[in-house]
Amino acid sequence: MDATSYRFDVVVVGAGPAGSSAAYTLAKRGFKVLLVERGRSPGAKNMFGGRVYVSPLKEIYPDFENKAPIHRWVTREKVSLVDGDNMTTLEYEARNSKSFTTYLTQLSGWMAKQAEEAGALLLNEITVDRLYMENGFVRGIVVGEEVLKADVVIDAEGINRLVLEKSGIVPRLKPSQVALGIKEVIKLSVEEINTNFGLEGNEGLAWILMGDVTKGVPGGAFIYTNRDSVSLGLVVYLEDAIYKVNKHISNYIEELRLHPLLNKYIKEGRIMEYSSHLIPEDIGSIMPPKPYYNGLLIAGDAAGFLLNLGYTYRGVDFAAYSGYLAAKAVEYGHDNGGYNEENLSIYKKYLEESFILKQLKKFKDVHSLMKKERLFELYPSLANHIARELFHIDYESPKILEAIKKAKEGRVGWFTLLRDLYEVSRKI
Ligand SMILES: Cc1cc2nc3c(=O)[nH]c(=O)nc-3n(C[C@H](O)[C@H](O)[C@H](O)COP(=O)(O)OP(=O)(O)OC[C@H]3O[C@@H](n4cnc5c(N)ncnc54)[C@H](O)[C@@H]3O)c2cc1C
Repeated sequence: MDATSYRFDVVVVGAGPAGSSAAYTLAKRGFKVLLVERGRSPGAKNMFGGRVYVSPLKEIYPDFENKAPIHRWVTREKVSLVDGDNMTTLEYEARNSKSFTTYLTQLSGWMAKQAEEAGALLLNEITVDRLYMENGFVRGIVVGEEVLKADVVIDAEGINRLVLEKSGIVPRLKPSQVALGIKEVIKLSVEEINTNFGLEGNEGLAWILMGDVTKGVPGGAFIYTNRDSVSLGLVVYLEDAIYKVNKHISNYIEELRLHPLLNKYIKEGRIMEYSSHLIPEDIGSIMPPKPYYNGLLIAGDAAGFLLNLGYTYRGVDFAAYSGYLAAKAVEYGHDNGGYNEENLSIYKKYLEESFILKQLKKFKDVHSLMKKERLFELYPSLANHIARELFHIDYESPKILEAIKKAKEGRVGWFTLLRDLYEVSRKI
């Protein structure tokens, strides 16, 4: 079929988790849907850390757990504070898991296939330039010289959102609003992963590290175990990275891989892949004033729907669920006389009633906390000094309070320490 000679009910820009779930939901309800992706295939240009929370996806896709490309179920969580060659770790283990590891390329591919099987037309290697407007309404997309018309457009182009920018909907992103993620995928056998990380069968590990791993730049590192590989990466705040990183950022990940406390887990491995991508961070300032306009809905990263709590990222489930809600808003517009702003504003209501806007509101102050240098430098070091006082014993063991007092001497006052503790407990 020649897509240019055909009018679609809905055009969806971007076959990431947000776009594909929207296309799937609408195609299943009988809408004529075009899903446009600039990559060679859905997911080819996508990148993430490695873990997805399953509940929202189960609501969208029947039998998701048995059909989707799930690598491992996360049964073990670790959060480590790193100071030089020392590391203090909090570890949690549970049998029944709520999240899984995967490759985003595989998950995006699977989700786009569900949309196609439901009846959506997927066109790869098409880069949308901007939105097509008619009388104050978005009425399609512009690709090069061509216009593809549709009654309504869902923009799910991810955080780079050049389409929205060129169409005058959002301003250009500033470095202070985003972080940079870089990642290596390291190939190991299933047996090596299970032995090295103490896992069994398809059990998985999600491991977040803070402190020396980012060399004083606000951010953190992560390790996720896939079926037969490990995702190892770093996330650093872009603005701080620009000013503070004095060598190529790829050196940081190399140093992380070779870190003596980590290298023992992956030393037999072979690097399969290296990638980098932006991540929305200052969500309050990234969100467009509204996620709906005449003839347009915005979903996923493009709308700033991502939650970073420091110890975990939630982007994929937020994106997929916002795509699903955008599809429901299109259905509402269809049943109520059209896709004007008034009808499409139901999307905001759906978002407010769902976990998406409730969670983003609840954690709205996390971003300011994440940029506190003491959190990335001082406290990881302090935790390790306290552990050192408690565990490096020659003859005499200290009481816990003595160990804390000694470790914090000359580094931080009680008042600052307690105030920071209070702030963390209030914001996260
Ligand atoms: C380093 C890093 C670690 C992360 N870790 C996690 C994690 O562990 N768990 C988690 O849940 N989330 C994580 N995230 C966030 C998660 O990846 C995103 O929130 C999620 O992928 C957003 O989905 P999306 O569909 O909105 O956008 P994307 O996944 O970015 O998809 C957008 C799609 O649109 C396409 N596109 C863009 N522009 C155009 C155009 N002009 N024309 C046509 N197509 C276009 C792109 O090629 C892409 O396929 C991480 C992100 C990064 C960068």
